[in-house]
Amino acid sequence: MKNIFRIFCLVGVASAVLSCTDQAVKTDETKYVMVIHGGAGTIEKQHMTPEKEAAYTAALTEALQSGYDLLKEGKSSMDAVQAAVNVMENSPLFNAGKGAVFTNEGKNELDASIMDGKTLKAGAVAGVTNIKNPINAARAVMDKSEHVMMVGKGAELFAASNGCDTVPASYFFTQERWDQLQRTKREEETGRAAFNDVDIRKSRISGVADADKKFGTVGAVALDKDGNLAAGTSTGGMTNKRYGRVGDSPIIGAGTYCNNLTAGISSTGWGEYYIREVAANRVSALIELKKLSIEDATKQVIDEIGKMGGDGGIIGLDKSGKVAMTFNTSGMYRGTVDENGKISVYIYK
Ligand code: ASP
Repeated sequence: MKNIFRIFCLVGVASAVLSCTDQAVKTDETKYVMVIHGGAGTIEKQHMTPEKEAAYTAALTEALQSGYDLLKEGKSSMDAVQAAVNVMENSPLFNAGKGAVFTNEGKNELDASIMDGKTLKAGAVAGVTNIKNPINAARAVMDKSEHVMMVGKGAELFAASNGCDTVPASYFFTQERWDQLQRTKREEETGRAAFNDVDIRKSRISGVADADKKFGTVGAVALDKDGNLAAGTSTGGMTNKRYGRVGDSPIIGAGTYCNNLTAGISSTGWGEYYIREVAANRVSALIELKKLSIEDATKQVIDEIGKMGGDGGIIGLDKSGKVAMTFNTSGMYRGTVDENGKISVYIYK
């Protein structure tokens, strides 16, 4: 009898400890309504000036505020995603819209995609050169055509005839991105960097100047008052890209995915790996089929990408308002806004 009593006590203590741990895990009951990223990569405090840090913080805050204002008014998550991405596309700080990286030929070729979690409708454009806000073109493809993806000249014609602002190629010129292309080309010539896995990985590890030829892609996921999720991603791709290279950002299922039953997801990182991992859809599938949390699902996918040799990050927001901002690089520009309008912005690990 004494022994049985002892066992009871032990079970009692164990379950108290377990429920304590459980509670500790669940302390963050905050409901988030939007999460954004401005790219993942080698972002280290010692290489950042206070001015640059302040500029990124301000731009991320402005993007979150613009999305939140619309959500508060009762506008859709699609509108909020578009507004937040537009702010980052209009800033020279990010590799999207105005601050897009240069191709090997010295041009800017932009990609974007957007997806509605309620209807599972989606739109995307790739390789556009004169659209000021590629995410708006992606939205136009979704709303105003029967297609999901348009590329190059056709996408440009369609976007322009559906009210998207066009700009001359010179609009996308920024000295910083131009210098980055010249350095990358010089490194390639001298054999320090090449468009292949091993050299890029080596340069990442040694931290040479252009280890990150791509980071700065932007993305957003929002949850509106009706409980609908939306996700979008916009990028200039990868510095020195050629041969009509398209990364994961405009590919539904890789760079962007959204489903009200699971979550909205936006990826950033080394696109080729995200395409092969079908990263954004895989996060959703892990939530749906394996019942993983958004946090665990994004961790598993980033882990798998890391094992393949890729790097980057993923943001996600699930239908209950839980967020994840997971990455395997030294930093990711990112931020959240909760249902009370509290904005939080982060840069480093
Ligand atoms: N994923 C983008 C691409 O590969 C780049 C990035 O997110 O940094 O085009």
